[in-house]
Amino acid sequence: MDATQHIVKLDPDAVELIDRTMIELARDIPIFASTVNRFVRGEPEALLLVEFAGENGDQQLRRLRQLVELMGDLGFPDSVVEASDKEFQNAIWEVRKSGLNIMMSMKGDGKPVSFIEDCAVQLEDLAEYTRRLTDIFDKHGTTGTFYAHASVGTLHVRPILNMKEESGATKMRSIAEECMEMVREYKGSHSGEHGDGISRSEFHEPMFGKRMVENFEEVKRAFDPTNLFNPGKIVNPHRMDDREIMRFKPAYSPIALDTSLDWSEWGGFHRAIEMCNNNGACRKASVGTMCPSYRATKDEQHLTRGRANTLRLAITGQLGDDGFTSNAMYQAMDLCVSCKGCKRECPTGVDMAAMKVEFLYHYHQKHGLSVRDRLFAYLPRYAHKLRRLGFLLNLRDKIPGIATLSEWLLGLSRERRLPHWRRDHFLPHDEDIMVSEGEREVVLLVDTFNSCFDVENANAAREVLNAAGYRVIYPQPVKKGRPLCCGRTFLSSGLLGEAKLEANRMLDALMPYTERGVPIVGLEPSCLLTLRDEYKVLMPGDDTDELAKNVFLLEEFLATEHATGRLQLDLKPIVSKKALLHGHCHQKAFNVMSAVQKVLSLIPELEVKTIDSSCCGMAGSFGYEKEHYDISMKMGSLSLFPAVKEADTDVLIVADGTSCRSQIEHGTGKQAMHVARVLQMALNS
Ligand code: SF4
Ligand code: SF4
Repeated sequence: MDATQHIVKLDPDAVELIDRTMIELARDIPIFASTVNRFVRGEPEALLLVEFAGENGDQQLRRLRQLVELMGDLGFPDSVVEASDKEFQNAIWEVRKSGLNIMMSMKGDGKPVSFIEDCAVQLEDLAEYTRRLTDIFDKHGTTGTFYAHASVGTLHVRPILNMKEESGATKMRSIAEECMEMVREYKGSHSGEHGDGISRSEFHEPMFGKRMVENFEEVKRAFDPTNLFNPGKIVNPHRMDDREIMRFKPAYSPIALDTSLDWSEWGGFHRAIEMCNNNGACRKASVGTMCPSYRATKDEQHLTRGRANTLRLAITGQLGDDGFTSNAMYQAMDLCVSCKGCKRECPTGVDMAAMKVEFLYHYHQKHGLSVRDRLFAYLPRYAHKLRRLGFLLNLRDKIPGIATLSEWLLGLSRERRLPHWRRDHFLPHDEDIMVSEGEREVVLLVDTFNSCFDVENANAAREVLNAAGYRVIYPQPVKKGRPLCCGRTFLSSGLLGEAKLEANRMLDALMPYTERGVPIVGLEPSCLLTLRDEYKVLMPGDDTDELAKNVFLLEEFLATEHATGRLQLDLKPIVSKKALLHGHCHQKAFNVMSAVQKVLSLIPELEVKTIDSSCCGMAGSFGYEKEHYDISMKMGSLSLFPAVKEADTDVLIVADGTSCRSQIEHGTGKQAMHVARVLQMALNS
C-alpha cells in the first residue's frame, strides 16, 4: 500500500488496488478466471493495477520501464506483470470494473457490506489507515475487502458481516463509528466518491460540523418543503443500523423446503437465491447471452434479477404461505429459457436455470403436469419406439387443420412444424464396437435428437472420428432396455425422479470408460453439458465429478486433440468459403465457442464469423409452445435472424443445437448444419 505514494510520482493515469479476496473470488467466476490467472502471479495479498495512457506508445513503454525500476528500488524486484497488448489490458480492466460484483459473489451469509466504502485519506496516510482499519475489523471478529482507487487514497472497503443477524447491524455501527473517528483524525473524508445514503448521513455532523448540517436542512426545506425527495437521507437521516429498513429484516427467515437438487455449494437454496445483489448487470443488451427474456420484453419481471427477487420473497413467506408454488411465481419463471447465460455472465453467479429446475419440481408436485409437458418430457422414452409410426405423426404438418387442432388440444403452436419423424434412426455399426489392443478409443454418446431426428449428424461424427483414426464405441445401458438418455427433457420439466433415474443409468454405463480414461464425446450441447453441469447437483459424488471431467462436445475433443498434436484429420477446402456460426446458449455458458471456431478454422480457406447473438428463442420445447411462440420469434429476431438473412446464399450457417437449427430454418428459411457435418464435407477421402 505504501508503494502507491511513490508510484503516483511517475504520473500514471490510474493506480487501482485489488486485494486477495477479490483475486480469489474472481478465479471462481468463469468469465474472469482466465484473465486473473494470466495477470496474477502466485498468491499475493494485494495487487496494484497501474495504467500509463497516451498517444505515444514508446513513451508509455518508457514509463513502464521506470515502474519496473521503481518497484525494484522499493524492494519488489520482478513484481511487475506487463500488459502492453490492448486485448489483455481491456480484460484486466474488466476484472477491476467488476470489482463490486466480484466481491458480492462471496457465498454464505457473511457478505462484504457497504457503509465505509469510500472514505478518503491522504496518500501518505493510506498504508497506516488500511493497517488500522484491518485492526478494527479484527477487534470485531471479522475481515474486510479492499479495492479501487489507491492513487487518490479512496479505497472501497467492505467489512464482511452477516446482516441476517442482529450482531451484524451492531458491528456495522461500531465499525462505522471507529472508522469515521479515524478518518477525522487523518483530516480525510467519510464520503470521498459515492453518495452519502443512509449509511453515511448520520456522520455528517461529526465530519462537517453542526452549522453545515443546519445549512443542509435549510436548503432541503426550501426546495422540498414536503420532504418528498429521498426522505431519511442526508437530512434527518434514518439510523444506519435500523434493520427494519434493510433487506434482511429481523423477521427474515426462509421457509423449510425439501430441495431436490444439491445446493450445498451455496449453503442452501435460499442462499443461492440471495446471491443476487440487485446490481442489474443482467439488464445489459449489448454483448453476451443474459438475459434473453428481458431483452425481448424489457420487463423487470422477466429479468434474472426480477426472478431472483420474486424467489427470495417467495421462499421467505413474503408472498403468502404458498407463494413459492403459486401461479404468480410460475409467471415470473415462465419466460426463463434456461439458457444459463446468468450462470456465466451474472457477476455473482446467479444460476437461474438450476433454480427453475428446482422450482418446477415443487410446482409440478403441487399442480401436476399437463399432457404437453409430459409429451416433451418423455420424448426420449417413446421416440425410439415410433420408427414405424412416424409417418402418422408427420401428418400433423401435412394435412391442413391438424396443426390447429394440436394447438387447441395440446398447446403446440400451429405456426411451427414439429421435428420430422423418420424410419432410419441412427444405428451403431458393428465394426465400431470391436476394439483392438492399443487403439485410440472414443465413446460417442448419441442423444435422442441426433439418434431419431438429425441422424446425419451422428453419422458425420462417426465418420470424422474414424477418419481421424479413433475407434468409436457406442455405450449401452448396463441392464439393457431402452437407449441411454441424459435426462435433459425431464430436468426441463422438473421431473427430477425420472431425471435421476436416467442419470444413474448413464453413470453406470459410462463410468467404466471414464475409469479407463476413454473420452466421452457428445453432439447436442444441452444434452452433453447436462453431464458436466446438472449431474453434479442431481446426484453429487466422486463418480459424477469424474464423469464431468471426461465428457466433451465433439468440437472440444477435436480442438484439444489438435492442441496436443494428436489430431490426424486430413481436411480439404469445401465449396463454401465462409461460415457463419451461431452458438448454442449452453456452448457459450461453458466457454465452448472457441473450440467450435478452432475446429472450423482447421478447414482450409474457410473464413469463420461468429454471430453475436443471445438465445435463438427456441430453447428446447419453449418455442413450440403456443403461448411462447411470439416471444420466441422476438428473441430470434433481435440479432440472429437478421445476421443469417443478410448472409449471402453461399455462406454456410453452422449451429450445433437441434432447436437452434429448427429456429433458424423457421425464422429465416435457411438450413443450418452441425459442425460434425461441416467437417464431414471437408474430409479428404
Ligand atoms: S441476477 Fe442480475 S441483478 Fe442479480 S446479481 Fe446477477 S446480474 Fe446482478
Ligand atoms: S437462464 Fe437465461 S433466461 Fe433464465 S434468467 Fe438466466 S439469463 Fe435469463
